[in-house]
Amino acid sequence: MNGKEVQQVLVLIKPDGLKKSLTGNIITKLSEAKLTIIGAKVVKPSRDLAEEHYKQLKNQIFFDNLIKYIRGDLHGEPYKRVLALVYKGEDAIKKLRTIAGATNPEDADPVSIRGAYGRIMRSGLFENVIHCSSDPIEAEREIKLWFQPDEITEEIYPSKKIIQKNIQAKVWEK
Ligand code: UDP
Ligand code: MG
Repeated sequence: MNGKEVQQVLVLIKPDGLKKSLTGNIITKLSEAKLTIIGAKVVKPSRDLAEEHYKQLKNQIFFDNLIKYIRGDLHGEPYKRVLALVYKGEDAIKKLRTIAGATNPEDADPVSIRGAYGRIMRSGLFENVIHCSSDPIEAEREIKLWFQPDEITEEIYPSKKIIQKNIQAKVWEK
């Protein structure tokens, strides 16, 4: 052990990443960080989920556009979705954010994901392919927003079992 903190990170491959068929490429690039994937699913973000995810940016002029972007409204069907992943490992946040690159694709290292594949839209919004949590507190908040405890292969945060009555659920017909 080199004493580095084990961290979890929420990664989202945004609708532009899916539309550009970059999923495999991005996961391969992120694997250079030698972390473990402990959760993965495709999500069509509701407005509530999108707004909660980006709530710190609520006062920014680009907020409405950002919500449209992450929900895929700017990319149309069948791209109204994101691939949500949870990574775990030593110093995971810094490692993944370095591979992802700077927020503004023009400032990002050209060999980073955002530098190679991001662009600035006509509206000025940074269409930057990928989201990565920025610190451990944000990571915990975001992971709990996007994933339930059973969808993650490890007990990363304390959970509890409850019995829910009269809860409607969709199940397979056969
Ligand atoms: N964003 C933008 N313009 C800005 C700042 C942010 O379009 O000036 C968008 C961009 O898509 C970014 C997201 O809002 O990824 C979230 O912003 P944040 O500052 O959290 O950057 P990140 O953590 O994604 O690098
Ligand atoms: Mg951020």
